[in-house]
Amino acid sequence: VTDVREGRGGALRAALLGLMDLVLPADCPGCGGAAARYGICAACLGVVTGPAAWTRPWPAPAGLPPCLTLGVYDGALRDIVLAYKERGRRTLAVPLGHALGDCLRDVVPRLGPPAGVDGAATARSVVLVPVPATARAVRARYGDHIGRLTAHTARRMRQFGWRVTVCTPVRALPKEDSSHLDREARAVAARDAFAVRPGQVDVLHARLAPGAPLVVLDDVLTTGSTLAAVCGRLAEIGAPATFALTVAATRLRRLGSLVPIAENSSEGLSRLGMTDVAPRG
Ligand SMILES: [Zn+2]
Repeated sequence: VTDVREGRGGALRAALLGLMDLVLPADCPGCGGAAARYGICAACLGVVTGPAAWTRPWPAPAGLPPCLTLGVYDGALRDIVLAYKERGRRTLAVPLGHALGDCLRDVVPRLGPPAGVDGAATARSVVLVPVPATARAVRARYGDHIGRLTAHTARRMRQFGWRVTVCTPVRALPKEDSSHLDREARAVAARDAFAVRPGQVDVLHARLAPGAPLVVLDDVLTTGSTLAAVCGRLAEIGAPATFALTVAATRLRRLGSLVPIAENSSEGLSRLGMTDVAPRG
């Protein structure tokens, strides 16, 4: 149930850009070297697929679920995300989506089913909710870049036999530029930036197998206010997020330590990333 709203001009431009990606040899956005498949070199592909980690901004906004990320929003990973998001390098959705899918295939089975749920019924089953983009962002950013990323994540997981449902029960409302607002004002603006799409709520519940994790996907975790807002809407309709997964997380002064998944994944979601971790140093 994807919802890609591209205007006619936007769709044409996006199609042309996609074609150019295929025809023109592009430099790797991570290092400037020669790119291989999907416009990224092998070394930078390793940056994208590096070990994921649990992380949490500090202080975390209310309602923020545990957050998993592929890496720190810095260096090559930052350049790759920006090339995908701001410069129309659409084919990067494939390696980024594959990395997210591989991460989920690794992490979800470690979490185990919630108490009282038959694990066999929910094994290798997941619901993905992409953070929705505003119509303006879709026009400015060569399409719905999180929706496209989510589609490739789902495709990757299905290749390995997972049952993946992509749902879009929340939509983004037109919003003003919030860059001039302070942290608290931005959090309020973010809370009001999303609305439930009533027609999609039934679709979500029909596809939400009991106990299957619901994962919200976004590109970059910064303050967490956007993810908290989307997850708040999901909680309102009885579909709380199990955790959020982002391509990268900013290393703000307030960002808590990155915790490798191997260190604590067996301890259960009740503890994973749910404690506000004061920054070190
Ligand atoms: Zn590279």
